[in-house]
This record gives sequence, structure tokens and C-alpha cells, in this order.
Amino acid sequence: MRYYPNIPDLNANSSINLLLRRAKENRTTNIEEYITTGGYSALKKALTRFNPEDILILVEESTLRGRGGAGFPTARKWRFALSNPPPRYLICNADESEPGTFKDRIIIERDPHLLIEGMIIAGYTLGAELGFIYIRGEYPAGAMILEDAIEDARKKGFLGKNILGTDFSFDILVYRGAGAYICGEETALIESLEGKRGHPRLRPPYPANEGLFGKPTVVNNVETLANIPIIVTYEMDFMNIGPMGYYGPKLFPVSGKVKNPGVYEATMDLTLRELIDMAGGMKNDKKLKAIFAGSLAVYSADEIDIPLDYSPKGFGGTGTTIVLDEDDCIIDALIVIAEFFEHESCGKCTPCRVGTYEQLNILRKFQNGTATEKDIELLEYLGKNIPVGSICGLGYSASNAIMDALRKFKDEFIAHINGECPAGICF
Ligand code: NAD
Ligand code: SF4
Repeated sequence: MRYYPNIPDLNANSSINLLLRRAKENRTTNIEEYITTGGYSALKKALTRFNPEDILILVEESTLRGRGGAGFPTARKWRFALSNPPPRYLICNADESEPGTFKDRIIIERDPHLLIEGMIIAGYTLGAELGFIYIRGEYPAGAMILEDAIEDARKKGFLGKNILGTDFSFDILVYRGAGAYICGEETALIESLEGKRGHPRLRPPYPANEGLFGKPTVVNNVETLANIPIIVTYEMDFMNIGPMGYYGPKLFPVSGKVKNPGVYEATMDLTLRELIDMAGGMKNDKKLKAIFAGSLAVYSADEIDIPLDYSPKGFGGTGTTIVLDEDDCIIDALIVIAEFFEHESCGKCTPCRVGTYEQLNILRKFQNGTATEKDIELLEYLGKNIPVGSICGLGYSASNAIMDALRKFKDEFIAHINGECPAGICF
């Protein structure tokens, strides 16, 4: 076995033990251990008892939504691809790079066969013969673990020609990204996989209709695909897991000022408040100030009784939860996010390229005490206009956190204009 570098000792806990059944405490990279704990039995069941349409119906009934953040119904995406003639491709998007997001990492590094098994079943359902795992360059150990696990699965006959003696053949290739956040955007990912510069394409056409090499391609997130063996195993009982319409397990990466940062697994009837409790509550029993849902939204302390589901009032997204306490400065936190977007904008659209640069500079004025009321107006102007002139999710969301913070924490902006940082960090 190869030496795997840089595997952090992530804290993980679960109230339901489905996605984290093997990964909660241990790393189950050994295929024998995976098999003796029930692994690859969902694949055997899928290939021997179900035809692809049966599995599609199970995924439809499961209400599974994409766990990469957008929450798009998985079965609907699969149906779009199936409405196009083969060859079809499956891509697992393992380029998770949203600030504060490290949930896919735990599956990749601690239970890689769960993802591989999910991909094989998805490949069977989609009539695909080839799948790719596009993994971010910053996960070198994850890439090695997946390569080794894929090789072990090939040796056991779970991958390759005539899987388990059927006429279904499928293989998986691992492709490492080179550290660009934009390559997690599905069309930039496809460009990168085709050997081109990772710039997003205009959509439509969506990849399900015209993706890799112009062929119908399903791009699914790691956690989404890891749900597939669980759905096949539980069949209709999957609908007993979690609230109506949002069935199944969900992972939540929690970081910041909680006692036990880590990855948590729960059903989606959990509230944001309960998730913070699950992570041990506030560190040093400080007062909660805000939650950053990655870079996409900011919640204030009086908004944490929302469910962690995909309903209009739910938390949705990747489940990323960055917890700020009374000692944290909203401006300071926004600057981290703004620096990220300014750095990661691919530069194709002028409003995104220039706007992310400008909003960072304006936030820095709040930090160094030179901002005026006019700068609030400028931030609002950029927040309205960057998304309008952008073609991909990065540009659409680059100002979300700032706009949310302006609505919910305007007093902190005003305080900085008046030369005061409520957390005592700036100036
Ligand atoms: P989107 O809502 O445009 O699309 C979601 C998925 O549904 C895509 O796969 C898309 O191809 C498919 N789809 C949507 N409409 C379709 C149609 N009519 N026909 C066929 N397929 C269709 O979202 P997006 O731009 O792909 O992704 C944005 C999301 O990515 C954000 O919500 C953000 O949370 C998330 N994100 C996650 C990370 C991470 O690290 N996990 C990083 C950046 C962004
Ligand atoms: Fe690139 Fe930004 Fe345009 Fe997306 S919106 S394509 S990241 S410039």
C-alpha cells in the first residue's frame, strides 16, 4: 500500500450512520473490509435484481438532490442524459473548494469504495461505460486512495469488462485538478478534462445534453453518488430516513468557533441550532454572532432555527457551516471571502473579473478606516451588477455574502465608517 500524505485527523460524527457508517472513526480503504461490512452488495443487487429504469425510479422516489450545493433533483438530471443517445459519460465532481467545505473529503479518504460503488450503479443506470473522478489538486492523498481503490475493485471484477458476469462494462479514471476553484464549475471541469483551459461554457446546453466531448454527461457530486448504494440497499425504506420530500442522510462540514469542528451526518429535519449543538456548541461558551454558509449566505444569530433542508426557507446548499462568535469581525470575515473570489475569478467576464477586485478593495477601506457611506452604495451596486454580467455560478454568487451582511449587519459597516470595529480587530 502506498503512503498517503496529508490526511488530517478530521472529527466526524453521525446521528444516523449511513454515509459515515465506516468513515466516522476509521478509514476503510481496504476492499476486503468494505465487503465484509456489506460493501458492493448494493451493486450485486442492482445488477441482478433491477434494470436501469428500476434504479432510476428508486432514485426518483428517494428525492435525492445534488449535494454539490445546487440541490438539483438527481433523477431528473439522469433522465435528461438518458433522453440523449449514447455514448454517455459520468463525472464525479470531487473538486470541492467552496470555503469551509470538506465533507466530500471524508468519503474519499475514509470510505472510497462507497463512492466507487455509487458510480458503478450510476453508470449502469445511465448506460455509461466510462466514468471520471475529477479531484482537486489539493487532495493528493484522496487521489491516491481512489486510484488504489479503483485498482482493487477492478481485481475483484466490480469494474472493467462484464462486471460480475453481466454484459455491463464500466471503468473509472481519476483526473487531478491543478488548484483552480473554477474547475469545480461543471462546464469548466469538462473543459479541463478535455485538456483545455478551465473556463466555463455558456449553458444551455447543459452537460446532460452536451457535455464531455459533446456527449451527454452527468456530473454529480461525491456525496450525491455515495447516496446511491444506500438508496439501492434501503429501496422504499429510504423514505423513512428524514423529513418528507428531503429524505436521506446529509453531511455538514462545521468549522469556526464551535467546540468540535468536523463533519456531521444527520437527516435534514435537523435545525442549524441543533447542528451547532451537535458540534459541541459554541467554543469557550462565547456568543454566536453569525453563520457563513460557505461564501453563499450569511445568517444572523436569530435565524438559526431553520431546517437544514432544501425548502425555500431551508439552509440548503452544501451544508457548509462556518461559525463566527462575538470576537469575530464581519468585515474581516467578508474580506477572506472577497479575496477568495478575486483570486479565483477566471477573468472571462469583465463584471466578475473587475467587480470581484473592486469589492475586495472597498471592503479593505472599511478595514483600514477610510470607508465612507458612499462605499456601502458601491458595494450594493456591485452586488446587483456582478451577477448580471456573469456567465457562471462564481460570478452569480461572488457578492452574496456581502449583500447578506449588508442586510443583516449594516451596523458593523457603519461602525467601521465611524472608526470602530465591534470585535476590536480592524485598524
Ligand atoms: P445550477 O443550479 O445551474 O445546476 C445544477 C445542476 O443541474 C447542474 O449539474 C446542471 O447541469 C443541472 N441542470 C440545471 N438545469 C438543467 C436543465 N434545464 N437541463 C439539464 N440539466 C440542468 O447550479 P451550478 O451552477 O451547476 O452550481 C452552482 C452551485 O454550486 C451553487 O449552488 C454552489 O453552492 C455550488 N458550489 C459548490 C462548491 C463545492 O465546493 N461543493 C463550489 C462552488 C459552488
Ligand atoms: Fe469566469 Fe467569473 Fe465569468 Fe465565471 S462569472 S466565467 S468565474 S469571469
